[in-house]
Amino acid sequence: MTSVVLAWLAAGTIVIGGAAVRAGQQVAAAEPADLIVLNGKVVTVDARASVAEAVAIRGGRIIAVGDAASVRARTGPATRVIDARGRTVIPGLIDSHVHALGAAPVEAVRPFRTLSSVGDLQAWLRDEARRAPGTGWIWSPRVYPTRLAEGRFPTRAELDAAVPDRPVVADGAYAFVLNTAALRAAGITATSADPAGAQVVRDPGGEPTGLVRNARSVLARYLPPATDALPLDQIEALHRVYLQSGITSVVERGGTVEGYRAYEALKTTGRLHVRATVTLMLPAGLQPADADRVIASLPLQPGQGDDRLKVGPLKLTVDGGILLGTSFMREPYGQSSRALYGVQDARYRGFLSTTPDVIHAGIKAGHARGWQMTAHVTGDAGVDVVLDAFEAAQRAHPRADPRHTLIHAYFPTPEVAHRVATLGVLVDTQPAWLFKDGDALRAALGPQRLARFIGVRTWRDAGARVAINTDHMFGADRDTAMNPFNPFLTMATAVSRRTESGQVVGAGERVTRDEALRMMTIDAAALSFDEADRGSIEVGKLGDLVILSDDLLTVPEARLRTITADMTIVGGVVVFEK
Ligand SMILES: [Zn+2]
Repeated sequence: MTSVVLAWLAAGTIVIGGAAVRAGQQVAAAEPADLIVLNGKVVTVDARASVAEAVAIRGGRIIAVGDAASVRARTGPATRVIDARGRTVIPGLIDSHVHALGAAPVEAVRPFRTLSSVGDLQAWLRDEARRAPGTGWIWSPRVYPTRLAEGRFPTRAELDAAVPDRPVVADGAYAFVLNTAALRAAGITATSADPAGAQVVRDPGGEPTGLVRNARSVLARYLPPATDALPLDQIEALHRVYLQSGITSVVERGGTVEGYRAYEALKTTGRLHVRATVTLMLPAGLQPADADRVIASLPLQPGQGDDRLKVGPLKLTVDGGILLGTSFMREPYGQSSRALYGVQDARYRGFLSTTPDVIHAGIKAGHARGWQMTAHVTGDAGVDVVLDAFEAAQRAHPRADPRHTLIHAYFPTPEVAHRVATLGVLVDTQPAWLFKDGDALRAALGPQRLARFIGVRTWRDAGARVAINTDHMFGADRDTAMNPFNPFLTMATAVSRRTESGQVVGAGERVTRDEALRMMTIDAAALSFDEADRGSIEVGKLGDLVILSDDLLTVPEARLRTITADMTIVGGVVVFEK
């Protein structure tokens, strides 16, 4: 035993990160590894951006990182040795914003299809009317005007032309288009008052155009009845495609207690193949006076769980979406946004989807009870409100490092970024939306505003911690899903700032490849308090690795987004192999 230890030390294994092996997890230095990856370009993402040749894993954790000879010394009779043949090895990617819990029930009924024009949408609606005959409401798959060839919402007339005789909703999550039958069924007329919280867009004669903003709770009663249980098979299948994409950890961003229980069921039956943190949504319609009671009555505790599954933060929804023109902005959307968003009022700048009272009360109550708080907030004026609430909560009840988080926060300025960094607030944002939506948004919002859209350079320069992620909502293909969950597209867009048409928008917000990788690994780990445990290839950390098809650090920029995972390893176990 002793001689083996000495041989290992003499061979000079680089123990990167030095003290990463924590008390209670002391690994016997000479014990053989379960799995070794040799002959790689191991991009460790440690503090010094070290590159190694090999890595060894035992008992689910990394026990050695260094040159091939020294790591090979950890080979035993049962060690699986993988020859990386010079390929790049990176830490398992962390997608800190997915909705597998939302995508899975859709996949279980009718696999999601991205619709790319009004004609596509009409064809889908006609099809659905045939597939499910009757008089019930028809809800389209999620559609965004920025992603339709026409660059606008469908009109009421276009929906009527597809399905005239039953209610139809084109579903944009934060804004909806209703056909005539749906408007009638929902009681939205030229003389009706707007339903609470919703904005009915009207023509000059007062007639509803069909576009209704912020109406999900109003229309919820017309949704098809939810199936009884979340489909575990589909959730597991989505996790498999995440692993095929190199994603080894996810944060569910729209979870519920029921969603957490679904993850628990997968875990206890050995079917949870990714690591997951589940965010819990606070209920829509939360009242300030109820906030503390609602949060106190949750049957889950902050951070409860382990390194496979744990309870994450609480989440409030503060405004709508920039793809729909419902983000709450400091400046008016402006005339050029009229076509895309159906904006008629020159002063329109979006709106909060709830009241500042609710935002303050929810954040204060959760903060005081030890929860990490997150807010879906897309517009810059919305961010101001949320930061005020984070600041007030911290002042009323000081806590060390609560890591409250802005989700989306699409238009940072240096001043706001400085405030975020000073408050210790984190950011969760989605570069691939610049790729998918940047062309349409630039035309609508102007080049100045778009130059800082998803400006991760601005956040980073101010010292704010940022995670980049995909916001995968629907579909099971990494490149055609809504939104694409190809992590290499996310990183490529942060690096290139290129839209789908090839235009560079806001070149000043570019980051390096190393920075992009950090924002999907070690910085993303910080969002769930996991940076000591994952996000880099260092001794003592979880053995989550990806072997790539191409070198992320040197492949030509245009090919960055075509990189694939050749092999994915979670806790030292090969969970995907091409
Ligand atoms: Zn989301």
